[in-house]
Amino acid sequence: MKIATFKHAGERKVGLVEDNTATINPFEVTAEQAQQGIQYLIELHLAGKDLPPTSTALGLDEVTLEAPLPRPRRNLFCVGKNYFEHAHEFSSSGFDSSAAQGAVPEHPIVFSKVPESVTGPGAFIEFDPEVSSAIDYEVELAVIIGKPGRGIARANALDHVWGYTIVNDVTARDLQGRYSQWLIGKSQDTFCPMGPVAVTRDEIDLADTGVRTWVNGEKRQDSNTGLLIFDVPTIIETIAAGVTLLPGDVIATGTPAGVGIGFKPPRYLVDGDVVCCEIDGIGRLENTLKQRTGQG
Ligand code: MG
Repeated sequence: MKIATFKHAGERKVGLVEDNTATINPFEVTAEQAQQGIQYLIELHLAGKDLPPTSTALGLDEVTLEAPLPRPRRNLFCVGKNYFEHAHEFSSSGFDSSAAQGAVPEHPIVFSKVPESVTGPGAFIEFDPEVSSAIDYEVELAVIIGKPGRGIARANALDHVWGYTIVNDVTARDLQGRYSQWLIGKSQDTFCPMGPVAVTRDEIDLADTGVRTWVNGEKRQDSNTGLLIFDVPTIIETIAAGVTLLPGDVIATGTPAGVGIGFKPPRYLVDGDVVCCEIDGIGRLENTLKQRTGQG
């Protein structure tokens, strides 16, 4: 199933996306239940309950898609340097404050992005050139946790997954390099586009799913989730060893090679650039860069 959070006639709703007819069937939920996007559906599933009935289908062109979880309940977990070629391109960029540990990490590097950095498909990625002049893109498969747990073994880890979406882990490289903790450089307002939909876990083959990015139509990243250094079960086992994972938690699994910092000289994003992140089975997440004026 593909499920989207969207706005229609000024109200937030969640619905089932039908690709073949380009329609969306809104679930009959209250405004309060829809406010948290797909969170309510994840909790219904956890409780062993059926999805709510749907009402009259709307055309996808009649709605504005939002992030499936417009404001996750807590920070997103993210994994750094989790594809070999990207680990090497980043380590040699001069901006890697973890480079002393070697290009390819021995253990997953886990950092976080604040929930308020999340924005939706089609929204602007806003930046202030006085804060950062090195904005970069990172397409990532993001895991959405369904079943809570701590001490989760690799063998059972996928039982805790509700589904997947796309995250663009937008990064201010200069801030990432300046501060040894990556949170500031990764958590700038609007630096976490998510969507365009969430899919249930049966829709994705973790061993073989294409992951790509285009900037202004030029392909920059082209890889496959089968090439992750630490696979999804390992990531879940690592985080959940002592941190209880909760329904609705999001884990971005890392980006492949081809980010702006990997070019010589680097190719950072500028005002008006259009970034399109694609993952097979989920769709395309497109956002445009916008230079902020003043403090607005
Ligand atoms: Mg990343």
